[in-house]
Amino acid sequence: MPVSWNGTLSTGRSEPLSLAGLAWPIELRPHPRARAMRLRLDEARERLILTFPRRMSRRTALNWAQGQSEWVDRQLTLVQPGEPFVPGAAIPVEGRMIRLEWRQDWPRRPEMVGEVLRCGGPREAFAGRIERFLRALARTRLSEATADYASLAGVAVKSVAVGDASSRWGSCSSDGALRYNWRLILTPPHLLQWVVAHEVAHRVHMDHGPGFKALEARLFGGNVSAARAELRALGPRLKRVGRGL
Ligand SMILES: [Zn+2]
Repeated sequence: MPVSWNGTLSTGRSEPLSLAGLAWPIELRPHPRARAMRLRLDEARERLILTFPRRMSRRTALNWAQGQSEWVDRQLTLVQPGEPFVPGAAIPVEGRMIRLEWRQDWPRRPEMVGEVLRCGGPREAFAGRIERFLRALARTRLSEATADYASLAGVAVKSVAVGDASSRWGSCSSDGALRYNWRLILTPPHLLQWVVAHEVAHRVHMDHGPGFKALEARLFGGNVSAARAELRALGPRLKRVGRGL
């Protein structure tokens, strides 16, 4: 335990941990007088503060906090404004900043023209059309990348689906059904590719052991831990895209 400048023991505050399912890292604060576990948001430092009775194990407290992911997501949408799909907004798509534009007399089907995503038709249908366009683009890119990695790994994939699970970028069931978050289309392409390489590697290994890691690295061909860190850093912002109107 570090000792502070005046010689007293520090409060034992630890570096924040990143936990799957929680959008912000979590700082643990065991407290001698705490009677129960309590979670709050530290907006300025973009982290969660978990207070818990000192006698309780960290593991127990962390397990409880991880179960609060939906509450955390709800709080985050309150404190952090969304970035709705409105004409004039700029959103990241495949690593580029794309501006959204609307004119009533343009075709209703969104079209990417250079750095502009344009869409016509009734103004009130604009946001929905943009989101459907991005989801379809995500499905296309994710299906392509999945097919490529699956053939590289010599495995079969039963299906590829795209959704918006709040806590995960991808998942792979034991029968070969892969699910991804459509927001991966908002990331630079190598991050989408890493998530796909990760899930396809689960077609061979359903754990995260050494065999899995070797296959994941071989399929991806890039720096896995750098990609994971990049995606973790981008995540909170990407979850706000298309929300709040
Ligand atoms: Zn995994």
